[in-house]
Amino acid sequence: MSWLTNLARPEIANLKSYEHAVWDPALERMHANELPWRALGDNTDAGLNRYPEPQPRELIARLSALYDVAPNCVLAGRGSDEMIDLLVRVFCRAGEDSVLICPPTFGMYAVSARIQNAQVVSIPLQADQGFALDEQAVLAADAKLIFLCSPNNPTANLLDEAAVLRIAAHFEGRALVVMDEAYIEFADRPSIARHIGAAPQLAVLRTLSKAHGLAGARCGTLIANPEVIGLLRKVISPYAIPQLTVEAALRLLQAPQLAVMRSRVEEVRREREKLSAALRQLPNTIRVWPSAANFVLAEFHDVDRALSRSRAAGLLIRDVRTQPGLGKALRISVGTPEQNDRLLEALK
Ligand code: PMP
Repeated sequence: MSWLTNLARPEIANLKSYEHAVWDPALERMHANELPWRALGDNTDAGLNRYPEPQPRELIARLSALYDVAPNCVLAGRGSDEMIDLLVRVFCRAGEDSVLICPPTFGMYAVSARIQNAQVVSIPLQADQGFALDEQAVLAADAKLIFLCSPNNPTANLLDEAAVLRIAAHFEGRALVVMDEAYIEFADRPSIARHIGAAPQLAVLRTLSKAHGLAGARCGTLIANPEVIGLLRKVISPYAIPQLTVEAALRLLQAPQLAVMRSRVEEVRREREKLSAALRQLPNTIRVWPSAANFVLAEFHDVDRALSRSRAAGLLIRDVRTQPGLGKALRISVGTPEQNDRLLEALK
C-alpha cells in the first residue's frame, strides 16, 4: 500500500467490496438468480439472460492493446463520465477535499465535484496565451484531484506536456493529476499515458465516444496505477458494462474498423482546417481558435444571429457563452463535408 491509498477517502480504502457472483464460464450458472433461457430474439454471443463479466478480460485486453498500456492499469466503464464520477467519489471527502479545474473546460469535472460536495478550485486557462495552463497558479494551489484536458473541450488546444509533467511531479504524494485525452486521436501527439509507470500520480482518461464513433456504446477507460484501479474497482457497480456494449466493442475494435477510424480522423482533420479557414472569412466572425480536436471554437460579433441561422439550416451548434472568458463563443463539431458547407452557407 502506497500514498495513493492514503489519498483515498478512508471509508473507501477500508471498504470491502460487494462480492459478485463467481465468474467461471466453464461451469453452468445456478448461482446468480438469472433465468436459464434467453429472451425470444436474443442473438447476443453470451445471452442477455446472464449478468456480464465484471471488467470483462477480453475487453480489458483489447483496450490495453489499443492504448498500449498494461491490462492491470485499465478500468473500463460507462464512458469517461463514469470514471470522472468514480475518481471524485473515491478521493474526495464531502465538505473537505477539493478538485482543481482549469476553465473553460469540460463541465463534468465540476458537476461530479459538486455532487460529492467537494470544493471546486478554478485556475483559468490563459486566453491571451492560446488557453495555456497557468502553471505557477496550479503549482500554488491545493487539491486532491487535478483535472486537465488535452485537447481541451471547448478551447480545442493541446496543453504543454512538459508543464503537465512538472505539475504531476510537484503533486507527487499529495494529489492525482488526471489528464482527459478524449480527443487525443485528432491531435499530432502521443498519449501522456506512457509516463504513468514513472509517475504513479498521473492518470489518463480515454474514450471510444469520439474518434472511434461509439458514443452510443458508452465505453470509457481510466488508465492509472494498479492501486488506483483497485480503489475504483471497489466503488464501480458490479456489472458496470452491459453485455451489448462488450460485444459491440469487441466486434467494432478490430483491424478493419481501426483502419476506417484512422482514415476518418484524417478526414475530420482536413474538414476542420477547411471549416476554420472558411469561418475566418465570414464578416460576423471575430476569430476561430486553432484546433487539435474534432471541433472548433469560434467567436462572433452577433452570436445569437449565428445560432439562429444555423438552427434555421437544421444544424445544432453549441452555445458555450456561460463558460468563463467565452462570452462571444460557439463550439462547432466538425460534420460531414455537406453539413460543414450547409453551416457555412447559413452563417454567410
Ligand atoms: N471528456 C471530455 C473532454 C469530453 O468532451 C467528453 C464528452 N463530451 C467526455 C469526457 C465524456 O465522454 P464519454 O463519457 O462519452 O466517454
